[in-house]
Amino acid sequence: STTFKYEFDTEAFRGKVSFPTGVFIDGQFSAGSEGKTIDIVDPTNGQVLTTVAEGTAADVDRAVVAAKCAYDSVWGLKTPGSQRGVFLARLADLMEAHIDELSALEALDAGKPFLWAKNFDVTKAIATIRYYAGWADKMHGKVIETTEDKLAYTRHEPFGVVGQIIPWNVPLLMMSWKLGPALATGNAVVLKPSEVTPLTALRMCSLMNEAGFPPGTANIVVGYGNTVGQAMSEHMGIDKIAFTGSTLVGRKIMEAAAKSNLKNVTLELGGKSPNIIFDDADLAVAVKWTSHGIFWNQGQACCAGTRIFVQEGIYFQFLKAFTEKAKSLKLGPTFELETYQGPLVSDIQFKRVMSYIECGKQEGATVHLGGERHGEAGYWVQPTIFTDTTPDMRIVREEIFGPVGVVIKFKDEDDVLRQANDTLYGLAAAVFTPDVSRALRVAHQLQAGTVWVNCIMMVHSNVPFGGYKQSGIGREEGEYALDNYTNVKAVHVNLGHTI
Ligand code: NAD
Repeated sequence: STTFKYEFDTEAFRGKVSFPTGVFIDGQFSAGSEGKTIDIVDPTNGQVLTTVAEGTAADVDRAVVAAKCAYDSVWGLKTPGSQRGVFLARLADLMEAHIDELSALEALDAGKPFLWAKNFDVTKAIATIRYYAGWADKMHGKVIETTEDKLAYTRHEPFGVVGQIIPWNVPLLMMSWKLGPALATGNAVVLKPSEVTPLTALRMCSLMNEAGFPPGTANIVVGYGNTVGQAMSEHMGIDKIAFTGSTLVGRKIMEAAAKSNLKNVTLELGGKSPNIIFDDADLAVAVKWTSHGIFWNQGQACCAGTRIFVQEGIYFQFLKAFTEKAKSLKLGPTFELETYQGPLVSDIQFKRVMSYIECGKQEGATVHLGGERHGEAGYWVQPTIFTDTTPDMRIVREEIFGPVGVVIKFKDEDDVLRQANDTLYGLAAAVFTPDVSRALRVAHQLQAGTVWVNCIMMVHSNVPFGGYKQSGIGREEGEYALDNYTNVKAVHVNLGHTI
């Protein structure tokens, strides 16, 4: 199997890492069945950082067998929830003990500023695993009233073998959103990280072994979407599939599930979230959050506030302050502590974002700020603001997934609600106003799975997250996510002898 060896010598983190990067099946690393590897690229300079084993459909088969074996023999209903909770709590502790290393790996692999990787991605991933450790022994069914001579109750049982496919934008956090509830509820897992950012997932394999999870309970197969991902979606031995990624691929997953064993499907997909700033908003607060909402993680956030609606009375004042804020963001090396924005994750993503910027120009929108590549090497894009857009422009309708926002003027509540809801997506929305009645009136009419009031981009392990409309099916995080991973069984007991 392949190994990743790296020596970090930065102001943020100094140290050596070395861990296997093979396919991880039944608690062990090996080469992929075809012996091929995938190049992992450093987004700051486009150079190959390392290679990892490329998984295949045959590796998925092997992982499913291992997961099924573990589920039937030692996991699932064989391990009490309290013990599953102990494994998860140990894993959270181990992640915490390695927080700098995991953060450095995430930063290196995805091009994230180290401090954001540490304070957001890894910190929240640890919180999520710890949160679900707490749920593992608290899964209750219900006793349901029927008649006096009957007893009816429900059990919340695991599905069995669960497939999980995750994207590259917040790799470890997405892994924790998937593994936490699936393992807490007693499922065995086959997880495919993104082929672009697999390093933290591979490092987690050794930590899972160390935490004591029985071999086969969580298997990690890095590979491409059209091979490993497709094989998982259509696998007859996978009972449920949970996916986070684009709406385009989400559709393919549902189709493959429908054509194979009708496996249960949950989807966390794309977004084009509205961020609404009313005339009476605290300008400094709105500017700070709006900037974070569109430029954090280089704009590679499913819930980014990409459509910025500003009421006409403060439009110019807001635009000026927002522009100043965007200009002040520091683009720079991943490990410099002042860096706010790093490069996009890959050459493909860089080209995709630049082509959207070009499209915006050609459609007649005004590039108010940015709109160009930053630097010579790597995949940096300047923070970019478009104005003078029309509702039919692609930059207004489609997910760009880069540091590119559109600022749109609106008249009143009715006008902004109509425009904000005029989208295929429904992942999140934000409202800025000190008027509580207005904030809640608007929040209740927005078609989105999350609404932020006077903030943006807040996620918390205890609170559900997911989409309306074409942004997804199901909810992750919080108690709600447990429903994604359990089947409800109703048991009827005849206490009398009547029919
Ligand atoms: P993507 O859809 O291209 O890929 C996601 C994952 O699916 C990757 O692991 C990829 O290898 C795999 N995949 C690709 N083709 C596949 C196929 N045919 N069958 C099975 N699997 C396949 O998305 P991405 O570019 O990695 O991530 C960006 C997207 O993810 C954006 O649309 C973003 O909005 C979305 N996202 C959503 C959430 C959420 O919680 N709603 C969170 C993060 C990212």
